[in-house]
Amino acid sequence: RLVIQILEHLSELLTSLLWPLKDTGVGKSSIVWRFVEDSFDPNINPTIGASFMTKTVQYQNELHKFLIWDTAGQERFRALAPMYYRGSAAAIIVYDITKEETFSTLKNWVRELRQHGPPNIVVAIAGNKCDLIDVREVMERDAKDYADSIHAIFVETSAKNAININELFIEISRRIPSAD
Ligand code: GDP
Repeated sequence: RLVIQILEHLSELLTSLLWPLKDTGVGKSSIVWRFVEDSFDPNINPTIGASFMTKTVQYQNELHKFLIWDTAGQERFRALAPMYYRGSAAAIIVYDITKEETFSTLKNWVRELRQHGPPNIVVAIAGNKCDLIDVREVMERDAKDYADSIHAIFVETSAKNAININELFIEISRRIPSAD
């Protein structure tokens, strides 16, 4: 019995160590690129991913300035992630609607943020690649129910076809209390 318990602990430990390795390619950099530059590069350079970008948008007569850290690549080194989200007002967690495992992995990031992130961080979940409905693996309803259960913003997006990208950021800025 003890051996089984030890094995269970070991496999849990292994899973939690390995999950950050699995979630590249969901479209994080492409979403930021679409939002900031309004363009899509199918051969987006992975190094773009480790970047910081800003964009200011006018919404309801107010200017909203977004300071965006794209942590692509960094999730390989999960220990570095807190550097990015510690001072953040919001986090967008992206999964790929055509890959079920990216939706399971997302739940780990939510847990991580809730445990170690700023207490009032706004969490948004984006189900990206919604242009690929023919090969969909994650039902929109399931993702929406999950997002509701954790009070997160939820949208399905397509960085490729520019679907819901601006809406995602506008909804985030609506939820962030203004500085004044
Ligand atoms: P990241 O590793 O999460 O930053 O993902 P990338 O932005 O590098 O994108 C990974 C791959 O998915 C690239 O080949 C993109 O062209 C592709 N991709 C990103 N967004 C979309 C999308 O909305 N639709 C489709 N069909 N492909 C996308």
